[in-house]
Amino acid sequence: MTTRDDRAAVELRAVTRRYGHGENAITALDTVDARFDPGTFTAVMGPSGSGKSTLLHSAAGLDRVTSGEVLIDGTAVAGLSERALTRLRRSRVGFVFQAFNLIPALTAAQNVVLPLRLAGRRPAPGEVAAMLAEVGLADRAGHRPAELSGGQQQRVAIARALVTRPAVVFADEPTGALDARSGAEVLRLLRSTVDRHGQTVVMVTHDPVAAAHADRVLFLADGRVVDDLTGAVGAERIAVHTARLEESAR
Ligand code: ADP
Repeated sequence: MTTRDDRAAVELRAVTRRYGHGENAITALDTVDARFDPGTFTAVMGPSGSGKSTLLHSAAGLDRVTSGEVLIDGTAVAGLSERALTRLRRSRVGFVFQAFNLIPALTAAQNVVLPLRLAGRRPAPGEVAAMLAEVGLADRAGHRPAELSGGQQQRVAIARALVTRPAVVFADEPTGALDARSGAEVLRLLRSTVDRHGQTVVMVTHDPVAAAHADRVLFLADGRVVDDLTGAVGAERIAVHTARLEESAR
């Protein structure tokens, strides 16, 4: 029996994802087992084509897997209708993208409130303002994305991802479009949501410095988990692992 205390935020059990059929089939994920516990920050790394995006999409219930099981906050996604899956995603999963993906016509506050509206919820008074304050943008509520810097836009996107208090936030190269300083701010922010609110974060990144903010680094190669480093893993050690994997992928 799974009790509430030992329930993973997300779990992949023997997940395989194949694209195409017959001799052209590509196995993007090959019987991957991975568990992301509540209140942890995991970086997912690996050479290009190793399956990072597929892992993220599968774990988020954006993509149906070929075999195996994905559980989000204890719910197996395979058994859900499209409608129920959409509902689960909207309430339990947050996303942060490399290109921010804010809606240009909406203000920061309107962008943040959007997931609540999609989930059919009305924000409590002060809820959106509190969310923006949490990401350090209390004074930018009425600004549109074009009136904000890249780092500020990404912080709005993080507020939007957190507003439903999801079981897990998936971040896909969240610092990829930012300069080093704004990138570091975004990483500190993600780190503090984990430390202060027990948020679970799973982040795909190429950058060892970004990955060093996580408390665990999963390395993929050819659709398999080949390394799983936990604890305070320094950027240097991550960079050495990355270089080794890229060498053997060549
Ligand atoms: P990464 O994010 O690490 O670069 P991906 O998950 O994007 O890796 O891709 C893993 C493998 O699956 C690659 O060989 C890629 O070409 C293949 N792949 C990904 N998406 C598709 C798709 N929609 N159709 C066919 N092959 C795909």
